[in-house]
Amino acid sequence: MVTGVTEPLQNIVPKFFPVSQPSITEREISNVTDAVRSGWVSSLGSYIDAFETSFAQYCGVEFAVATSNGTTALHLAIEALSIGPGHEVIVPDLTFVATANAVAYSGATPVLVDVDTDTLCINPEAVRRAITPKSRAVIPVHLYGHPAEMEEINAIAAEFDLFVIEDAAEAHGAEFRGKRVGGLSNCGVFSFYGNKIITTGEGGMITTNDAALYQRARSLRDHAMSPTRRYWHAEMGFNYRMSNLQAALGMAQLERIDEILKHRRDLMGWYRESITTTEEVRLNYVAEWASSAYWMICLEIDWLDDKLRDKLMGELKKNGVDSRPYFCTVSSMPMYEMVPCRVAWRKAGIGLNLPTYFDLTRNDVSTIGAVVNDLLIRLGPR
Ligand SMILES: *Cc1c(COP(=O)(O)O)cnc(C)c1O
Repeated sequence: MVTGVTEPLQNIVPKFFPVSQPSITEREISNVTDAVRSGWVSSLGSYIDAFETSFAQYCGVEFAVATSNGTTALHLAIEALSIGPGHEVIVPDLTFVATANAVAYSGATPVLVDVDTDTLCINPEAVRRAITPKSRAVIPVHLYGHPAEMEEINAIAAEFDLFVIEDAAEAHGAEFRGKRVGGLSNCGVFSFYGNKIITTGEGGMITTNDAALYQRARSLRDHAMSPTRRYWHAEMGFNYRMSNLQAALGMAQLERIDEILKHRRDLMGWYRESITTTEEVRLNYVAEWASSAYWMICLEIDWLDDKLRDKLMGELKKNGVDSRPYFCTVSSMPMYEMVPCRVAWRKAGIGLNLPTYFDLTRNDVSTIGAVVNDLLIRLGPR
């Protein structure tokens, strides 16, 4: 029975806190069961349409295209904008590798630029410096749930006639100057992986106000099949469809997104009261123009290096607290190897993410905070 309650289904073994876990309630189970029972188990079915319509509405845009995951949503958006060989796409050096990979899949070249010290998002001035006659687009990433400086990025893009694709995979519901991400530029791209703000298991979405882009993305998602002649394909498309089962899960999650985001704001507050910060030990920065989705609690410690961070993470784990390092810079990876971007490189070495999920209580956070404080005193410089 759907009661709207959000109690976890089972209690996790006490005293181990993973970095992330999805919040699955009776509402999700009921939706997915309904979708399975209906027989519409593939990519036709009422949940797909409902999920696309509702998610578009949530982001304040006219159109949305559901996909099999966030990476395919990124690639599909790039293809639908006819970006390919001979083009350059500007991407932040500090991001999940999928942002750069999606560009490379299209045959275009990802150009890596530095991020802002505070927001960790792409630095608009670095974008400007990276523009060449081959530049076609820029992909700001709303990293760890904090929106990028979209006003400056959009202005630069307008000046140089570039497309802007928001990588909002980690930032559902985040706001730039009071406007939700996903509707701030040519298109937005979301992920519904199990550890994202809301999940469909695997899944993704493109959001846009551009009717032509919407039509082209829809067509390419389904092998570019002719609407008038079945099994006729005038160009090479993809199978990047989302299933009705995934959309059923997504609908239940979307109905709960307000409480999920509120809980994340509460979590952030609890972490701020539990962890002792200094100039050298910082939690998530939030710009005055931003409302973060707080995808991940971010802890930066200036005196960490790779070895010390590994030690800290190992000690945290022994004390029941899982953590993960910040993303590695894309520029350090063999397939993209280039001169590293200074800020991205520095941040990648001193940051880690702490447990961030719906079932964490204030008490849990206070326990985690005490463990962190104690370790920072023991491992820190004297
Ligand atoms: C998760 C993520 C993606 C990719 O999404 P998947 O659904 O895992 O394919 C892309 N960009 C960023 C910034 C992400 O965090």
